Amino acid sequence: MLFDVHAHLTHPELRAREAELLARAGAAGVTSIVSNGLNPADNLAVLELARRAPQVRPALGLYPVDAILPEMVALGIDYPRDEAELLPGEEAVEWVVRHVDQAFAIGEIGLDGYWVPEELWGKQERHFRALVRLAIEADKAMILHTRKRERRALEILLEEGAKRVDWHCFGGKVKLARQIAEAGHWLSIPANVARSQSFQRMVETLPRDKILLETDCPYLGPERGELNEPANVAGTAAFIAQTWREPLPLVRERLAENYTALFGTPP
Ligand SMILES: [Zn+2]
Repeated sequence: MLFDVHAHLTHPELRAREAELLARAGAAGVTSIVSNGLNPADNLAVLELARRAPQVRPALGLYPVDAILPEMVALGIDYPRDEAELLPGEEAVEWVVRHVDQAFAIGEIGLDGYWVPEELWGKQERHFRALVRLAIEADKAMILHTRKRERRALEILLEEGAKRVDWHCFGGKVKLARQIAEAGHWLSIPANVARSQSFQRMVETLPRDKILLETDCPYLGPERGELNEPANVAGTAAFIAQTWREPLPLVRERLAENYTALFGTPP
C-alpha cells in the first residue's frame, strides 16, 4: 500500500495522460494519491477527478501565491500561471469553506515569500490562518507549502494548535525540519531524493514515524527534466529502505502507518 500525499494530477501536462498515469501507479502498488488543488477552478477539477478515480483523494486548497495573485498583478509583478484565476483570496478561501465536506484533506495551503513581496505577507497570512482554522474545525489533515517562510508558518500552526500537518517538499534547514517533527507534524519526501542532499539528511535524521512519500508531480522528478508521476514513490520507498538499512516490505508498512496516523484512514 504505497501512497503519494502531494500530486497535481489536474496539471495540464498530466491531465491528458490520466488513465496511463493511474494504471502505472496501480501497477507500482500505489493505492492512494492525494491530488492537491491550487485555487477554486483547480479544486473543482480535483473533485471531478476523484469522482472518476476512487484511488484519488481530493485535497482542496489555495496555493499561497494564488491567494494573493490579484494584489500581485496590481503591483505589476509577473507570475507564471497561465490559467490563473484572478479571484480575490477572500473568495477563494470561502470556496474551500463551502466545499470542506468533500475534502479528504486541506491543501495545498501555506506561505510563500519567494514569489510574494513582503508588503503582501500580512494578507497572505490571514488567508493561510483562515484555512488552518477551517482544517482544524473540520478535523481534516492539511498539506503545507512553504517557501522562504517556514519559520513563520510553524509559528502560526503552533499558535492555532494544528496537529495533523504534512510539510510538503520542505526547503528549509534540516534542523528546522527536526523541530517540526518534534512538534508532531509530518514531512513528505519527494521523488528527487536521490539528487537532493537535504532530503537525504531528512531521511537519515528525522524520526521514522514522521516521514511520508510525495511526488509534487509533474514537478521534482527523479530525473531532471522528466515529468514526474505518482508511480515514482516506489523508488523513494526503496531509497528510504536502503538508507534505514531495513527490508523494503517493512519500510512500506511503516510508511503506510505514518499515512494512517496523519489522515486517519489507511492508504
Ligand atoms: Zn504542490
